[in-house]
Amino acid sequence: MGDEGKLQKHYATFDVFLRKGKAKFDAKINGDFPTTAKMEDFKQMQTLGTGTFGKVVLCQHKANEKFYAMKIMEKANIIRTRQLVHTIAEIRCMDSFSFPFLVNMEFFFKNNVYIFIVMPFVNGGEMFYHLRAAKKFDETLCKFYAAQVVMAFEYMHYLGIVYRDLKPENILIDIEGYLKITDFGFCKRINSQRTYTLCGTPEYLAPEIILSQGYNHSVDWWSFGVLVFEMAAGYPPFYAKDPMKLYEKIVSAKYVFPTNFSKPLKNLITNILQVDRTKRYGILKAGVKDIKSHEWFKSVDFDKILGRKAKAPFKPSINGEEDTKFFDNYGDVKLRTSSKCEYEEEFKNFAIQTLEDSQES
Ligand code: AMP
Repeated sequence: MGDEGKLQKHYATFDVFLRKGKAKFDAKINGDFPTTAKMEDFKQMQTLGTGTFGKVVLCQHKANEKFYAMKIMEKANIIRTRQLVHTIAEIRCMDSFSFPFLVNMEFFFKNNVYIFIVMPFVNGGEMFYHLRAAKKFDETLCKFYAAQVVMAFEYMHYLGIVYRDLKPENILIDIEGYLKITDFGFCKRINSQRTYTLCGTPEYLAPEIILSQGYNHSVDWWSFGVLVFEMAAGYPPFYAKDPMKLYEKIVSAKYVFPTNFSKPLKNLITNILQVDRTKRYGILKAGVKDIKSHEWFKSVDFDKILGRKAKAPFKPSINGEEDTKFFDNYGDVKLRTSSKCEYEEEFKNFAIQTLEDSQES
């Protein structure tokens, strides 16, 4: 089958995949949300990372002996920084997503002070680490990663969700060399509406976020363009120490291509990093097909990648499931205790309805 035939077949199979995925997601997102484990079930090992709103710790389940990444978030901190709505979205989405390139939640529980999200340990480390080590990725590797991000975004957008935080720090590489996107703290179910909140990471912000214009999944495709540029160049397209200068560059789409970029890559990025949303690939009439059928992706077999049957161009060398060599050791975590259950009321109900109705703060 030719490349065009393969792509048409992929569109048909992926469409069925998405419809089934949405039915599964919808059935789960508003359903019961039981506590599925407790602190004593796990042996804590070392801190793997720190996010904006919590720490991530490697731990081992005492009964099944599997290794997990446990995200520990302090309830008081979530309330103080007005992140309750975002945190509920993160937890409910992670629990309800079922997609090969998105991290999923295995267990959830809370105690008097913290909430705990337990996910499979993705031990190949962050894309950020490998990109800095390699300086830049060759275009074959960029395409392999980009194809997975495209499909993950297609899945989230089909569910009516915007992701809003794409960057190499939030993309983990698994033992097979495939991606797992993590950190759903800025996910929001907007369906066909617009949202206005300023959130994300400066270098990856779309112009419409900076200009407070109201936006939808257009911002994810912009950040996808930034990611593809950064993977192939080793640095992002827009950069300035002073945030105001950075934002000026973004809203005027001022960037320069390195000489190593192929012509199709330059063409794809030019079509995605469009300030004018009526011209931006990903959100035009053909939607994501403008990206998937672009010449740069010509040799990419999306179905093979979706089925994890394509050989990854790069596999991190890992010694065993618990190998943490691709993570910095942030030392032990010291957890606070309290005899009183803090913010019991606020964390009682993890209802997603609040997300759709309420204002983000
Ligand atoms: P987050 O707060 O979700 O952004 O997580 C902070 C950091 O913890 C990430 O950038 C990763 O380095 C690490 N991390 C998060 N989730 C996992 C996971 N499932 N497996 C391994 N490391 C993780």
